Amino acid sequence: SDTKRGDGADVRGLREAMRGQVLVPGETGYDEARRVWNGTVDRRPALIARCLDVADVQRALGFAVGHDLPVAVRGGGHSVAGFSTCSDGVLIDLGLMRTVSVDAQARVARAEPGVTGAEFDRATQEHGLATTLGVVSTTGIAGLTLGGGIGWLMRKHGLACDNLLSVDLVTADGRLVTASADENPDLFWALKGGGGNFGIVTSFEYRLHPVGPTVYGGGVMFAREHRRAVLEAFRELTRRAPDELTAYAAATAAPDGSPVAAVAACYAGDPAEGARLLDPVKAAVGEPLLDALGPLPYTEQQSRVDAGYPRGEYHYWRSCFLDDLTDAVIDVLVDRASDFWAPPALELIVEHMGGAIAAGDGAFAHRDASYDVLIAANWTDPADQDRCVAWARDTAAALEPHSRGGYVNYEPDADGAHVPGAFGDRLARLRALKARYDPHNVFSLNQNVTPAP
Ligand code: FAD
Repeated sequence: SDTKRGDGADVRGLREAMRGQVLVPGETGYDEARRVWNGTVDRRPALIARCLDVADVQRALGFAVGHDLPVAVRGGGHSVAGFSTCSDGVLIDLGLMRTVSVDAQARVARAEPGVTGAEFDRATQEHGLATTLGVVSTTGIAGLTLGGGIGWLMRKHGLACDNLLSVDLVTADGRLVTASADENPDLFWALKGGGGNFGIVTSFEYRLHPVGPTVYGGGVMFAREHRRAVLEAFRELTRRAPDELTAYAAATAAPDGSPVAAVAACYAGDPAEGARLLDPVKAAVGEPLLDALGPLPYTEQQSRVDAGYPRGEYHYWRSCFLDDLTDAVIDVLVDRASDFWAPPALELIVEHMGGAIAAGDGAFAHRDASYDVLIAANWTDPADQDRCVAWARDTAAALEPHSRGGYVNYEPDADGAHVPGAFGDRLARLRALKARYDPHNVFSLNQNVTPAP
């Protein structure tokens, strides 16, 4: 029927009821509004509801449920898997809800779900404060936080989700609910790593910490021949690292596209101490191609690599958490690092976990992992797709014997294959909570937790 496709009188009714905009195919702005960060994702929602407030979210959700249409929820639109759009369903787009307010005295920030990392950092750094967010500042805070939130401050201050004080969300039945340690604590637990499975978050409240304005960070690049030496030096560094230091090692591309081995880091403390910890890496590996380690503004640390990840290019990512960076794992990483000249950029990024993450509570399943490997295939010519996807899948398969599951926010594919690995021993409790808060699986476009029977 017309209504089923999101046409007719009901759409007019929704338009009149919403403060924000409703877009259907063919209307001006629809094509721009349906696009997401990952250019491989090309879907056409029946209706896009660009919400401005909680009531808009409730109305759009009510419309979708009432017409039995699939629901996609979008914060920053950076889902690599393409979960924040859909074909022939209702896209609830929160990208216009972008307010951040900071209570510097209480060290608390309240942010709406369309806020990006850059916007959040700008507002909090004005007061010399910050909390853990991702390492590319154009990424949305919403999806990132709900899946965990890995970033430069995590070993000192925990994951992004560990810094949540409370969350307001619209549940599948349209109610506005607050979840915190005191209110709906089960739901709060599920929101800290369970992804978008439990409702539409309209407000996040975060704990803030004094950070910067200057940190010791940036990165250093070596010729690709030094990959093994870089991984070994990185292992040495991370085995001894204090919680203030979060470091990554990567087989990646230099700004000119040539393949390199790199170490990037952020020391959330005295810059001199950061230098003291990282200098031995350079001594162990040899002459760098490019040495950009040093003191820099925290906001710059957070946006240093933004230019490498513009909107609209093509991506397929996998990931796996590791208990240790053994010689066997290093062999696989060195073997799988490609000698490409980008594009395509086939990246292997090893993220050092641990520290404060282990002490956190919540659905994020890999708190005791030591490392996460992001396997990122990024390309610009559609003709490269098959070999890029194959490279990522084969690399993940080679690491599989050493891996304990992947990161919910990096894993692709909507077929449920990565769900057990992403949620690990948290899955049974998550499924029970899903049955309570979303028994009909209205929120299914995510690494989907199906309701327990
Ligand atoms: P969206 O695409 O908007 O949404 C992703 C998922 O979350 C969807 O399932 C969506 O339905 C759900 N969702 C979004 N908003 C809400 C909401 N308000 N309520 C309920 N559900 C919602 N992750 C890290 O942890 N650390 C990193 O350093 C990092 N770097 C990245 C760099 C790049 C360039 C990219 C593309 C991704 C990176 N990621 C990182 C992964 C990132 O966490 C995910 O892409 C995440 O989904 C981004 O959040 P978003 O709001 O932009 O996502």
